[in-house]
Amino acid sequence: MKYGNILAASLAICLSTALVVAFSFMHPEYSVLVIGVYFITVILMSVIVFIISKIYTKNKSSVDSEDFVRVIENLDSEFIVWSDDFTYIRMNKRIRELLDIPLEESCGKDALKKALGLPDLSVNSLSLVTAGKHNASFNTKTNKTVSITWSTSLFKGFKKRSLYLSTGFNITEIKKMKINLASANDFFNSSMELAEIGVIMSTDRKKYAASSETVRMFGLKSNSISVKTFRSLIHPNDRMQFDSAVNSDNEESGEIKKIELRIKKTDGASYRWYSFRYKSIRATDNTLPLFGGALLDINEEREKDMLIERLAYIDEVTEIANRNRLVSIGQETYECSRTLGYSYWIIALDIDRFHIINDTCGYENGNYILRNFAHILYKFVTPGGLAARISGDNFALVFRGYGDDDLPFRTAKNIQEEFAKLAVDEFAAVNLSCSAGFSKMPDDGDSFLNVMEHAEFALKSGGGQPGSICGYEPSMHDSIIGVNELEKSLALAIDNNELQLFYQPKIDLKSGKIMGVEALIRWIKPDGTVITPDAFVPIAERSRLIGKISEFVLNEGCRQNALWQKLGYPNIVMSINFTSADFYQNDLKERVLDALVRTDLDAKWLEVELTETLALSDIDYAVAQMNKLRDLGVKLAMDDFGTGYSSLSYLQILPITLLKLDRSFITDIQHDNIALKIVSAVISIAKSKKIKTIAEGIENPEQEDILRKAGCDYGQGYYYGKPMPAEELEKLFAKFG
Ligand code: C2E
Ligand code: MG
Ligand code: MG
Repeated sequence: MKYGNILAASLAICLSTALVVAFSFMHPEYSVLVIGVYFITVILMSVIVFIISKIYTKNKSSVDSEDFVRVIENLDSEFIVWSDDFTYIRMNKRIRELLDIPLEESCGKDALKKALGLPDLSVNSLSLVTAGKHNASFNTKTNKTVSITWSTSLFKGFKKRSLYLSTGFNITEIKKMKINLASANDFFNSSMELAEIGVIMSTDRKKYAASSETVRMFGLKSNSISVKTFRSLIHPNDRMQFDSAVNSDNEESGEIKKIELRIKKTDGASYRWYSFRYKSIRATDNTLPLFGGALLDINEEREKDMLIERLAYIDEVTEIANRNRLVSIGQETYECSRTLGYSYWIIALDIDRFHIINDTCGYENGNYILRNFAHILYKFVTPGGLAARISGDNFALVFRGYGDDDLPFRTAKNIQEEFAKLAVDEFAAVNLSCSAGFSKMPDDGDSFLNVMEHAEFALKSGGGQPGSICGYEPSMHDSIIGVNELEKSLALAIDNNELQLFYQPKIDLKSGKIMGVEALIRWIKPDGTVITPDAFVPIAERSRLIGKISEFVLNEGCRQNALWQKLGYPNIVMSINFTSADFYQNDLKERVLDALVRTDLDAKWLEVELTETLALSDIDYAVAQMNKLRDLGVKLAMDDFGTGYSSLSYLQILPITLLKLDRSFITDIQHDNIALKIVSAVISIAKSKKIKTIAEGIENPEQEDILRKAGCDYGQGYYYGKPMPAEELEKLFAKFG
């Protein structure tokens, strides 16, 4: 054989090997079959070429084509030997069987045309065949389509004759496979498209083959994408997860794993959430290793989940964590503080008199204050910490301690200072302050909830004093428990009618007659013990029992006064005391009117006593509320004057009818010249404003005398009578009537 021929044969083998390798790579599932068939063909070809070359080299001129035909007759591939003038046509057994024709017919032109799939034996048709490779298809008698790829080469020197050798490569099965493959591929792509599932697969973890749905999902330019490019589409926060998935080695178990990633389109549109279910498949003798998975768009579900989580864990008004979140994160922080030895503080905070802010400035402004308070707290949050709104006007702040025991106190003070700065514009007249109680993690409790409860205990132990800051002490426990017990029994006392009104006379200093009484509440226990209001009114205020008590006092006071009038006792003014919670109720006017109507008492015989502190905590709203009562004809007294702001300028603004000089001015008025001067000045200013004055705590005739001379209108005190039950007071009418 010539070198040129060897080179051509080598090239042909290389080319066809490359084709087979490429095909196997594209369709690994058929690679075994294709490679198998290919190798058999190559071996056969080699054997034939070897035999031919042997014969050829032995005696070029004596080569007999029939010898050759005998060699190929029983080989496992299709062979045709034919001369260009068609006088010599020989087909081996394989092709004869395929064509379904007997030996004698196989030497004819028709058989050759059919086998080579040619319409005719014209020069054009033949040039296609002799050019090298061409495909032919024909039907057998049993109507099966056979496809063969023919390789034709020219051999010279068969007894001076040139012959063609056509070697067939039966591709009928491969063709079927291709069709099956194409339809399987279509089926796969359509299914993935319908299910909106993208698939990416890689054999080297450097480049992905992407399914058509993946291409659509992410707007890829082709169905091949490098891992690097795909990674760049993933949200930076999710890339680490993705990297560990790509580098995971779960081939052994074959386990399917799942992660959730935010991925965007190549056009840079916003990220969407995808679930990525991935798997590694081990390489086998016939297959390459595979890594890949399915991508499913879960954005809508994820958004719903986030909304649910938001509703469950975020406070709607302030948009900071709510109690649920505080408890779950707090417990983690508690455990961390236990295991790592870090200390954390928790401050429980309460906005002072928030109901006043809400009632006076309106609900929207109340929410504004809550939001801003939350923002202030956020400034003090440290890693691992949290700010949360627990309920209404109650908040909590958790932050790292760093071994500084003064930190919670300083932090609470800073919060108070920041909060006070909000008192501008529509809040200028409001006193914005908050109270705080704090405890330490992990020292002050055996769980986060326990430590939080202790911070709340500490907050309560401030006694509702605005601006109080208290640290938790275990000893505090007992007194708080005492208060709780008291609250419970007070609630029962109200239900069991153990509350009773006592009346203390008010005397007209000019006439010496009773001009009014002050109704003062008493709790008479079943054993006869009398509890004075100082011991239970503040507790009732804190536990909101005060509403019930005030309702009772208002109705009972009016009922008693109306009864006395009916019984023919002199007409007097009934004074009742109101707390801030009572006074700032929106329906104050309606409730007072209701009591007057129900008891049939004229409004001018009812007086409401308010303290300075109460009235001045929000002066505009206080004036509005006072005017509502004045409109009804109810009198208004300023109680304990001199103990609070004591600013006489307020007498201009507040629509009061009576000023009650506090007992502290009266106690020593006989000897205390300054007290006398103050009292005299206040009386004359009040007179100029047409406001009557009454001195509280007159205990002796000297005090009465001095006050009468100073121009004081009325007097109240033990000198005339202590607070007493209604029947006892009736006896006094005779004395001062
Ligand atoms: P207040 O309104 O200033 O009542 C006057 C208090 O001074 C009464 O004490 C009375 O007993 C006491 N007092 C009167 N004259 C004298 C005196 O000459 N010497 C001394 N040492 N004390 C005198 P009480 O009844 O214990 O009431 C204390 C406070 O409790 C009241 O101060 C009032 O602020 C509150 N309070 C009493 N009853 C009610 C009520 O029904 N509702 C509300 N919201 N508060 C009430
Ligand atoms: Mg009073
Ligand atoms: Mg008083």
